[in-house]
Amino acid sequence: MIDLSSLTHIAFDADDTLWGHEHVFVDAKKRCLELLSPYMKPGMDLEQELYAFERKNLKIFGYGVKGFTLSMIETAVELSGGKIPGSAIQQIIDLGKEMLTHDIELLPGVREALTALKPHFKLLLITKGELFAQESKIARSGLAAEFDIIEIVSEKDPVTYQNLLDRHGIDPAGFLMLGNSLRSDVLPIVEIGGRAAHLPYEYTWHHEAVNEEEAAAGYWRPEGGLGELVQAVLKGL
Ligand SMILES: [Mg+2]
Repeated sequence: MIDLSSLTHIAFDADDTLWGHEHVFVDAKKRCLELLSPYMKPGMDLEQELYAFERKNLKIFGYGVKGFTLSMIETAVELSGGKIPGSAIQQIIDLGKEMLTHDIELLPGVREALTALKPHFKLLLITKGELFAQESKIARSGLAAEFDIIEIVSEKDPVTYQNLLDRHGIDPAGFLMLGNSLRSDVLPIVEIGGRAAHLPYEYTWHHEAVNEEEAAAGYWRPEGGLGELVQAVLKGL
């Protein structure tokens, strides 16, 4: 547990912190792998093949569903030696469209947490990803009005966070960030002198997994999740 007094700003990650998201990727991946299975060579780990394209393409496409869809198509073309029919490509594109328009389901306790914190702190939403897709999700979530500041960034590293805080004149010493990802939401914040709480989600994307033993101290993972965190923050007032 960390000291939660003297906070001025509380920031939330969005995907898998405010609403479930990774399960959409997990489902889509499963369906994509089913489509690709006819082209699998013996001993091949399809999921690893797809992940290899995904990782390689991150630098070109950035994060998000559209890039992921293109990586699924590239994997399909590659594994089939260019023989995959247009109808199967269409199925992958349809999968991508479904991923971009799915219903947003708020995670338990999110609305209550925002309502409880809003009178006492400036609230930020800081999410990483593609601008159009993230804006659409924020709008569909119905939560936009709860936040004083909404920022969509393409990377969540210490420099990005520091610039963002500077731009809004926020002192890291009074800043608390909550999120499901140690790599993106917690460790960079600790590094710039802010405070962070880790609220793990059911799934963790390969790219996000970090060795917890490498994780610096200075953040808190409340066993009781968001509800326990909100109570502790309110006590620190
Ligand atoms: Mg997240």
